[in-house]
Order: sequence, then structure tokens, then C-alpha cells
Amino acid sequence: MNKNLELLLQYINESNYIVFFGGAGVSTESGIPDFRSKDGLYNQHDVKFEKYKPEDLLHKNCLYHNPKVFFEFYRQKMDTRGCEPNVTHRVIAKLEQMGKLKAVITQNIDGLHQKAGSKNVLEIHGSTCRNYCTKCGKEHSADFIFESKEAIPRCECGGMVRPDVTMYGEQLPKNAMFDASDAMSMADMLIVAGTSLSVYPAAGLLYDLRRCNHIVLLNMEDVNVPFMGESDLFIKGPMGKTFSELEKLL
Ligand code: NAD
Repeated sequence: MNKNLELLLQYINESNYIVFFGGAGVSTESGIPDFRSKDGLYNQHDVKFEKYKPEDLLHKNCLYHNPKVFFEFYRQKMDTRGCEPNVTHRVIAKLEQMGKLKAVITQNIDGLHQKAGSKNVLEIHGSTCRNYCTKCGKEHSADFIFESKEAIPRCECGGMVRPDVTMYGEQLPKNAMFDASDAMSMADMLIVAGTSLSVYPAAGLLYDLRRCNHIVLLNMEDVNVPFMGESDLFIKGPMGKTFSELEKLL
């Protein structure tokens, strides 16, 4: 067994309140592009949307003031209904079933942790799986938005139906953020995976750590994780490789 895997396993064995904090990189191996990698959404050139920056297309102003463009982009880029969880989602769910892991804090909006069986998933940027009418509040399925023939999906009451996803310029869901902060403060081990930690206030949650003994970072590239010390672990590379090896040992 290689040294990193040995240490990761040792830390898991020593811990009873593991918290997983993940980003878009957790789902790239399920075929969903992240934002900032070479093949990420921010680096894709699409003639139709060339005059916009992705941050502008995913801003609340675009949703409310230019909804036709918003939904065209959203339907084209954010439809992950056919995607399946990968080995990372599966191992995280297994650690929860074993009683080791207590919370998954995710910036992802694809619902794949729940699809893999995780129960305590704190979706701090919302989810494309949930949608609601901006006028009457009625809930609608993801199919309703993605399969609607209308340029702007509309409820029976005439209101626009929008995804329950936090757009740029909007507040993060209070309950999920409160629970995430609480989980962070209880964590005795933190696994940070597949995030550039460049989106705030999500990344600020790491400052809520109080009693954490071990931080493990899994990422393709160097990321600045606050409080990481010499006894902590950075496993650089595709996380699926590490989690596949770990899966055999659990
Ligand atoms: P990001 O794109 O800024 O960063 C992703 C990070 O993951 C990068 O550092 C990249 O090197 C790393 N990475 C990619 N694939 C990896 C792999 N297989 N193994 C290890 N590391 C890998 O993403 P972010 O920090 O999550 O912030 C972007 C925002 O984008 C989030 O708010 C999230 O809501 C949203 N987003 C979500 C999805 C999704 O739901 N799947 C997809 C794209 C973007």
C-alpha cells in the first residue's frame, strides 16, 4: 500500500466525525465538467454565448432580466439527469453508513451524493433537482424545466419556474449554511476534494474548524487550504484513483 493511502486509512480509523467538503471536481469523473479546469465550463467556447461571461449567465440578473438566454444556457450546460455517481460518491456514502462520516457539504448542484446513498448532504449552492414557481411557490421536477418546449418554463399560474440553485448575486441557503458551519465545528477529520476554494462564502466555512485533527486534500492541482499543517495530507491527482483503492480496504 502506498504511503498516502496508508495515512488516509489511518486517519479514517482514528476519526469518528469526518466531514467531507467537495466541489465540482468530485463529479468530473461522472462526466460533468467543473468550472475552472482546462476542460471546465469557463474555458468552453460556445459561439452562441460568446458575448457573455459564465458568471453573468449564472447571475440572478440574467435569470430575471434575460430569462430566455439564461434558460437556453442552463438547459444546454446544466442538465445532469443522465449522470451517475462515481467511486468517490460511493465511498463517501459508505463512510457515512459505517458511522464514520457525519456530513457531506457540497457546492455541487447535481444530486449525485444522494443518488449514491448519502443521507446528510448539505447543498450549500442548492440543486438542479429542485425547482419552484417564482409566483406561487409550487415545486416542479427537473424534467419540467429541461423538457419544457417553452423558452421560459412557466407554472400553471403563469409564474416563471426556476431552479433552486443559488445564482451569483443571491444569498446562500441559510439552513444548509448553518448546518454546514455546525458540522465543520464538530469535525475531527476534514476531507476537502475537487474544489478550487475560490467561491465565497462557501470556502469561508473552513474557518469554522475547531477540533479537527486531520485535514486531507484531494485535488488535481495545488489549493490553499487554511490551517493545513505538516501532519496533514495532500493527495494530488485524480481522486477516483485514491477512492477506488480505498473502496477495496473498507
Ligand atoms: P472549480 O471548477 O472552481 O474547481 C474544481 C477543482 O477540482 C479544480 O481545482 C480541479 O483541479 C479539481 N478537479 C477536477 N477534477 C478532479 C478530479 N477528478 N480529481 C481531483 N481534482 C479534480 O469548482 P468549485 O470549487 O466547486 O467551484 C465552482 C462552483 O461551480 C461551485 O459553486 C459549484 O456549485 C459549481 N459547479 C457545480 C457542478 C456540479 O454540480 N457537478 C459542476 C460545475 C460547477
